Amino acid sequence: RVFISLLPKAELHAHLNGCIPLDCLRELARDYAPEAGEPTVDLTAFADGVKLDEIHDFFKLFPAIYALTATPAALRVATRAVLDQFIGDDARQQNCAYVELRTTPRTTKHMTRKEYLEAVLDEVELSPKDRTALLVAVDRRMEESVVAEIVDLAIELKNAGRRVVGMDLCGEPLAGDVHMLVKHLARAKKAGLGVTVHVAETSANTAEDTMALLSFEPTRLGHATFLNDDARAFVEEHRIPIEICLTSNLLCKTVSTLEDHHIKHWLLRDHPVAICTDDTLPFRTSLAGEYALLLAKPPLGLGLSEDEVSAIAERGLGARMGQM
Ligand code: IMP
Repeated sequence: RVFISLLPKAELHAHLNGCIPLDCLRELARDYAPEAGEPTVDLTAFADGVKLDEIHDFFKLFPAIYALTATPAALRVATRAVLDQFIGDDARQQNCAYVELRTTPRTTKHMTRKEYLEAVLDEVELSPKDRTALLVAVDRRMEESVVAEIVDLAIELKNAGRRVVGMDLCGEPLAGDVHMLVKHLARAKKAGLGVTVHVAETSANTAEDTMALLSFEPTRLGHATFLNDDARAFVEEHRIPIEICLTSNLLCKTVSTLEDHHIKHWLLRDHPVAICTDDTLPFRTSLAGEYALLLAKPPLGLGLSEDEVSAIAERGLGARMGQM
């Protein structure tokens, strides 16, 4: 525990709406007065601990949270709580040196996508510049006009000096037209943004889908659980860092045990990986908790040495979008 809290770490894969602490959601729920046609919100699934039969069930958790973060004011409260969870005074023992938060801008009755991002950025930019940054996410389920609009917005905000350092591709792992998505994400990369993509997250993702996503050489990769030999060779050759979310993979059942986790393949090759939480609320985890899994003896953890874990943390810090 002491070793982990002395180790400076980077959180590079954290979804804003998946990382809102339960207390904060409860506070937002108290102020939430749904109008006709708006959903009521039940947070018991989160309070009781989320049980998933498979990864596709996971995405059904979000509408309840989205109802609570539908105004700029609520979104700011949520963003502050998420950042505090990683780098606030009460989180000092976690020693998270830097957090690159990601979020998918939504249009609601109360805000445009631009207002959504500005509300999040207003909070992100209250922290020192070397400690926080934002990745703007597009969801695989989105249609092309929306993807194009979000990429334009990310580029516009970056050029206006806002703290947007990159983009992410996330959402239901089997949805969407990857060629269309790649066309727009490559445009973001060309404009100087880093780009990370959730790739090969499920065994049903095809090799073609994966190779299309790799084709524009993303800056980093999320999960990359089911890469075939060709894809692994490409990732190794281009030394693309992989964001690893151990608890998320176990709870979404894309990896059955830590013994089988693909992180082992990459550690054997000294390939850069970044240890991350993904969604702290449903997975009930923390950055320090994920690092504890590296150190713990099998079968609970991976049984790595302190030197090995230090090297991983350092690589994680080196994979920040602003630094690459
Ligand atoms: P948001 O982007 O701040 O709204 O964070 C929640 C969203 O992130 C979800 O609705 C999903 O689209 C996405 N997300 C969270 N976790 C995962 C994951 O493990 N795989 C793919 N998408 C995810």
